[in-house]
Amino acid sequence: MAGTVTGKSAGTVTTAVKAAETADYETASKAVSITVNKTLKKPGNCHFIKWNSSKYTSCRIGWNKTEGAEGYETLLSWTDGSHANRTIVKSNVRCRDCTVHPQHVSQMMVRAFYMSGGQRKFGPWSNVEYITPSPTRLTAKNASSGTNLKMNISWNIIYGCNGYNVFLTTNPNGTWYWNQSTAVKATATSAVITRFRGSAIRKNTRYYVRIVTRRQRNGVFCTVPMPASNTYIGSFIISGKSESANVVNRDPKGEYIGNRNSKIFHHSWCASVRKMSDSNKVRFESRNDAIKGGYRPCKNCNP
Ligand SMILES: [Zn+2]
Repeated sequence: MAGTVTGKSAGTVTTAVKAAETADYETASKAVSITVNKTLKKPGNCHFIKWNSSKYTSCRIGWNKTEGAEGYETLLSWTDGSHANRTIVKSNVRCRDCTVHPQHVSQMMVRAFYMSGGQRKFGPWSNVEYITPSPTRLTAKNASSGTNLKMNISWNIIYGCNGYNVFLTTNPNGTWYWNQSTAVKATATSAVITRFRGSAIRKNTRYYVRIVTRRQRNGVFCTVPMPASNTYIGSFIISGKSESANVVNRDPKGEYIGNRNSKIFHHSWCASVRKMSDSNKVRFESRNDAIKGGYRPCKNCNP
C-alpha cells in the first residue's frame, strides 16, 4: 500500500510507516495465499566453463536447469566473502560471462527463483565453485654451479589459494609434465627446478613453465580450471653457472606475428620479430588463425 507520510514529528512518521508496512504485509499475505508455493532445488553442476582471455580477468560460468525456475541469481565474491557481486539472469540462461580479479581466487554460487506477488522467491544456493586464475608473471634465477644445474623460479601470488602445481614442457603445444607442488599456502610462490621427466635438466634446452593455482574445499583439493594447453607463464634456458636467468615471459596479449615474405609466424617476443620491418608484420590472435592463413611456425620460438 503506497501512501504519503506528511507528519512532522518523528513519532507520527513512525506510526504512519508502521501502518503502511502492516497493510502491505496483509496485501502480500493475501497474494501468497492464492499462489501455489514452489519448492525450488539447488541448481546442479555449478561450474567454471572457460577463461575468456589469458589475462584471467573474465570467465564463463554455468549451471544446470532447475525445474520451476523463472530466473537465477549468481553470486561471486572473493574467498573471504568480500567484493560480492550479485547478478539476476533469465530462466533460459544457463551460463554467463563474469569479471573476476586476476590475482584472487573467486567463489561462485547460483540459486533459482520464481516470482510471487511481485517478489522473487529464492531456492537454496548451489554448492560453492572456485575460480582459480593462474599467475601471470615469472621471474627466475639460474643457481647452477658446474654440472649441478638448478633454476630458482618464482611468480606472483594468487590470494585465497592453497598452493600451486608447477608444470614444465619443452613443447608448449604438446604435453605438459607435472614437476612439483608447492606448500599449501598462497605465499609459497617459488620452486627450485633441477629435474624434468625423471632426468636432470639440460643446458641449451628451453623449458616452458606453467603454474596452476590449487584450492582446497573441506581439506580436499578441488578440480581447478586449467589454462589452455598452449598457455604458459614464461620459459627459460639454463646455463652451467649462476647468473641472472634468461627468462622469456609469455606474451601477455597472446599475440602471434607473421612475416609476409617468409610466411613464418612467431611469438611476439621472438628475436626474429624485433628484426622484422613493420611493413612485413601480420598480427594473428591465435596460432590457428596463423596456420589457416598459410603460415608455418618458427623453429626457434616454437609458437
Ligand atoms: Zn620465432
